[in-house]
Amino acid sequence: PPTIRKINEKYDKVFVTGCLEPQTEGPRANAAFVVLARNKELDGVIQSVKSIERHFNRWFHYPYVFLNDGDFNSTFKDTIQNYTSSPVEFGKIDPSMWGYPDWVDDNVAKEGIRKQGDAAIMYGGMESYHHMCRFYSGFFYKHELLQKYEWYWRLEPEISYFCDITYDPFIHMERSNKTYGFTIAVKELKETVPNIFRYASAYKRLNNLTSKGLWEMFVEPPEEKKEEELPKDDPKYKKPLPEDILRTEPGAGTLPDVHPEAMEGEVYNMCHFWSNFEIAKLDWFRSKEYNDFFEMMDRSGGFWMERWGDAPIHSLAAGALLGPSDIHYFRDFGYRHTTIQHCPANARARQIPRPPYLEKTTTDEKKRFEEDDYWEHWDAEKENGVGCRCR
Ligand code: GDP
Ligand code: MN
Repeated sequence: PPTIRKINEKYDKVFVTGCLEPQTEGPRANAAFVVLARNKELDGVIQSVKSIERHFNRWFHYPYVFLNDGDFNSTFKDTIQNYTSSPVEFGKIDPSMWGYPDWVDDNVAKEGIRKQGDAAIMYGGMESYHHMCRFYSGFFYKHELLQKYEWYWRLEPEISYFCDITYDPFIHMERSNKTYGFTIAVKELKETVPNIFRYASAYKRLNNLTSKGLWEMFVEPPEEKKEEELPKDDPKYKKPLPEDILRTEPGAGTLPDVHPEAMEGEVYNMCHFWSNFEIAKLDWFRSKEYNDFFEMMDRSGGFWMERWGDAPIHSLAAGALLGPSDIHYFRDFGYRHTTIQHCPANARARQIPRPPYLEKTTTDEKKRFEEDDYWEHWDAEKENGVGCRCR
């Protein structure tokens, strides 16, 4: 197993050794905290701001952008300013970024949401939650208050950080050429995203995207298959993909049918980066590729007829468009939201087996994996509370 010394030689040291003296000198990134919230969540927001200020921002003074589909009241605005000395902006979200777009039949969508409520799907019956997920999937990075920033750090009400973060993660992501950072990866509730992977997979196929090695993180390993029944030279063995992958009109009330061959038999393993924490490069979200992906997902109606979260949307887009070396796992951040947490004290430096797909690839990639440039996906629930030594 790699020793700390070896790791330090290979990486910028601060990624590995967390709680040292804050390294506050040096340049700042063009970055802000982004907090979506409602007035009634003020207490939870205060908790989060107190926590990030205590463990990081009292040394670094990054600004905050608060967003709301309604108006923040003066109590909210005045109170927040008491908890930070950083610049704070409050923005309202335009209806064009929140709620039903004109190509959706509201009544059909509402009926879809009602049915998800009846089926007791978590948040499935809550209209505002669907709007929130769609906003965080395809719009937050287009908000005017974020236009001047290159990086954001997502903050939610009722989260806590419990280790000091003594270096600037934006600067270090920039230096290490990272695009997207996470602390926790968990499995999604199946019933919230029954069809999401069919579309993500079809997007990848339609755009002839070959995996850069991250897509496999989201694919259930195939069960041992019996010998193929069709001979390999049978034309049916690999039919060219039909033009009309989406075989019905979008917004028709049910999700349009995806041609089964668009998926090549892959199954989603429900893994996703838990997006209530995110540090990422806004330009990636603003890219044509990401927005094409969002558009295709959106047009299917899955934000209404199912309850697609922004977490699996961001994750599958990363799977289709990015590689492992674009992603940074902040294993040194102590972070908790509701019942799920990541505690660095429990993040053992595990030797994990090489994923089978790597066997087929170049020595370089294999080597990179072995050197732990790759990170395992993490079932955070296993870590819960187990001997956590963070404060
Ligand atoms: P959970 O973490 O999945 O249980 O979802 P939350 O209720 O925490 O919502 C996720 C984020 O979206 C939080 O930052 C909430 O404050 C925010 N949010 C959720 N619904 C709304 C809404 O209707 N309006 C606004 N302004 N923010 C919302
Ligand atoms: Mn939350």
